[in-house]
Amino acid sequence: MDKYECPCTYIYDPLQGDPKGQIRDGTVFHDLPDTWQCPVCGAGKDFFWKLISKFADNNTYKIEGL
Ligand SMILES: [Zn+2]
Repeated sequence: MDKYECPCTYIYDPLQGDPKGQIRDGTVFHDLPDTWQCPVCGAGKDFFWKLISKFADNNTYKIEGL
């Protein structure tokens, strides 16, 4: 599941959800209500971008080119 980052550096993690926003864990970013806002700065979903993290699920991570 993809994480999303807010301009304020808050990161939405689907595995944790957003307890303050009454978002259950396991809720992917795409399924958040359009009214959902960053619990830290109040930014809307449109302000978030997808976090590309090669290391988040690193069981299969391989260093390429060596
Ligand atoms: Zn924020």
